[in-house]
Amino acid sequence: MPMYCFTCDTDQPHRELNRAEQSWLEERLGRAAVREFRMCEAVLDTESGKQCRNLRTGGNKKPFARPIRVPVLE
Ligand SMILES: [Zn+2]
Repeated sequence: MPMYCFTCDTDQPHRELNRAEQSWLEERLGRAAVREFRMCEAVLDTESGKQCRNLRTGGNKKPFARPIRVPVLE
Protein backbone atom coordinates (compact mmCIF):
# COMPACT_ATOMS: atom_id res chain seq x y z
CA MET A 1 0.00 0.00 0.00
CA PRO A 2 1.50 3.37 -0.98
CA MET A 3 2.29 5.74 1.89
CA TYR A 4 3.74 9.23 1.89
CA CYS A 5 7.54 9.32 1.97
CA PHE A 6 8.98 12.49 3.43
CA THR A 7 12.23 12.15 1.48
CA CYS A 8 10.60 11.37 -1.88
CA ASP A 9 7.80 13.89 -1.15
CA THR A 10 5.30 11.57 -2.86
CA ASP A 11 3.30 8.44 -2.03
CA GLN A 12 5.50 5.38 -2.51
CA PRO A 13 5.34 1.65 -1.79
CA HIS A 14 6.69 0.70 1.64
CA ARG A 15 7.43 -2.63 3.23
CA GLU A 16 8.11 -3.94 6.73
CA LEU A 17 11.73 -4.47 7.72
CA ASN A 18 13.21 -7.93 7.53
CA ARG A 19 14.91 -9.42 10.59
CA ALA A 20 18.41 -8.16 9.68
CA GLU A 21 17.12 -4.65 9.02
CA GLN A 22 15.22 -4.66 12.32
CA SER A 23 18.39 -5.67 14.16
CA TRP A 24 20.31 -2.86 12.48
CA LEU A 25 17.65 -0.31 13.44
CA GLU A 26 17.30 -1.58 17.01
CA GLU A 27 21.02 -1.00 17.44
CA ARG A 28 20.93 2.35 15.64
CA LEU A 29 18.13 3.64 17.90
CA GLY A 30 19.06 1.75 21.05
CA ARG A 31 15.60 0.20 21.20
CA ALA A 32 14.36 -3.29 21.90
CA ALA A 33 11.69 -3.34 19.19
CA VAL A 34 11.15 -1.42 15.96
CA ARG A 35 8.23 -3.28 14.43
CA GLU A 36 6.23 -0.14 13.64
CA PHE A 37 8.70 1.05 11.00
CA ARG A 38 8.17 0.82 7.25
CA MET A 39 10.79 1.37 4.58
CA CYS A 40 10.26 3.24 1.33
CA GLU A 41 10.83 1.03 -1.70
CA ALA A 42 10.88 3.78 -4.32
CA VAL A 43 13.55 3.11 -6.93
CA LEU A 44 15.73 6.22 -7.22
CA ASP A 45 18.02 4.93 -9.94
CA THR A 46 16.59 2.46 -12.42
CA GLU A 47 20.01 1.42 -13.71
CA SER A 48 21.42 0.30 -10.34
CA GLY A 49 18.03 -0.40 -8.76
CA LYS A 50 19.00 1.80 -5.79
CA GLN A 51 16.03 2.34 -3.47
CA CYS A 52 15.11 5.28 -1.23
CA ARG A 53 14.96 3.09 1.95
CA ASN A 54 13.81 6.01 4.09
CA LEU A 55 11.96 5.05 7.27
CA ARG A 56 8.55 6.05 8.59
CA THR A 57 5.97 4.42 10.82
CA GLY A 58 2.38 3.59 9.96
CA GLY A 59 1.12 6.74 11.66
CA ASN A 60 4.09 9.11 11.51
CA LYS A 61 5.55 10.20 8.18
CA LYS A 62 8.53 11.89 9.87
CA PRO A 63 9.52 10.03 13.05
CA PHE A 64 13.08 11.41 13.11
CA ALA A 65 14.42 14.95 13.03
CA ARG A 66 16.80 13.83 10.34
CA PRO A 67 15.76 11.06 7.93
CA ILE A 68 17.15 7.59 8.54
CA ARG A 69 17.70 5.35 5.55
CA VAL A 70 18.26 1.66 6.03
CA PRO A 71 21.54 0.51 4.49
CA VAL A 72 21.54 -2.46 2.13
CA LEU A 73 22.60 -5.33 4.38
CA GLU A 74 24.35 -8.39 3.02
ZN1 LIG B 1 11.14 7.44 -0.35
